[in-house]
Amino acid sequence: MIIVYSTILLGILGLTSGLFLAFAASKFAVKEDPRVKLVEAALPGINCGACGFPGCSGFAKAYADGKVPKEGCIPGRRSGVPEKLEAITKTSQEKILAIWKESGEDAEKALQKLLSATGAPPKPVPKKPVRPSPDEVAKYKGMLKDNELASLIYGALPNIDCGLCGHPGCAAFALKLAASEEKPEKCVPGMRQNVPEKVAKIKKMSSNEIKKMLEETAGDPKKIKEKLGG
Ligand code: SF4
Ligand code: SF4
Repeated sequence: MIIVYSTILLGILGLTSGLFLAFAASKFAVKEDPRVKLVEAALPGINCGACGFPGCSGFAKAYADGKVPKEGCIPGRRSGVPEKLEAITKTSQEKILAIWKESGEDAEKALQKLLSATGAPPKPVPKKPVRPSPDEVAKYKGMLKDNELASLIYGALPNIDCGLCGHPGCAAFALKLAASEEKPEKCVPGMRQNVPEKVAKIKKMSSNEIKKMLEETAGDPKKIKEKLGG
């Protein structure tokens, strides 16, 4: 009999704590801020890190908190991101909440609704950078071994393979730079890391100096960046 009572008691306790946990989860759940979600939808979504945040969501949160300017997303400057962010900023919280609900909490739909209501430019048509596949990245990385200049240039790039330069990864871009078929300024995430200056420095080096730096660093991009400084 004692066993039966104990089992029933344990069952009741389990049920009660389960219900309490479910209640607490719904009561204290952190609600997504629609403004942050709208800002995030207005960004390019390539997580390139050029703004100083590891990804677009970090920038979106900082922008919504008023900590970064609307021009802070560097690749977005060319695709009307500042104008869209301004439209979001100028919209009252009540209006944002209303649009958010009307759009079924879908950030893309809500952004389009807000932009057409405010007359701000529509969501970009600019060509979205395409992240290269791992196979593509590996293919161009393999081609570096026969090209010392491109190998050293590769070490000076951000090595995040974001595709923003229009090439399938940093190795592909390094090969183009080595052949003087591209401009280092096209690596937007690299602008904060002085990539153009570093590439110019490498291009002035003799083949012996390039070889020496590759040997000293064993081709490690981190060590190459340290050696190049700036
Ligand atoms: S610079 Fe723009 S695209 Fe790049 S991570 Fe920051 S917000 Fe995203
Ligand atoms: S070289 Fe191209 S792929 Fe590499 S970080 Fe720069 S923009 Fe992105």
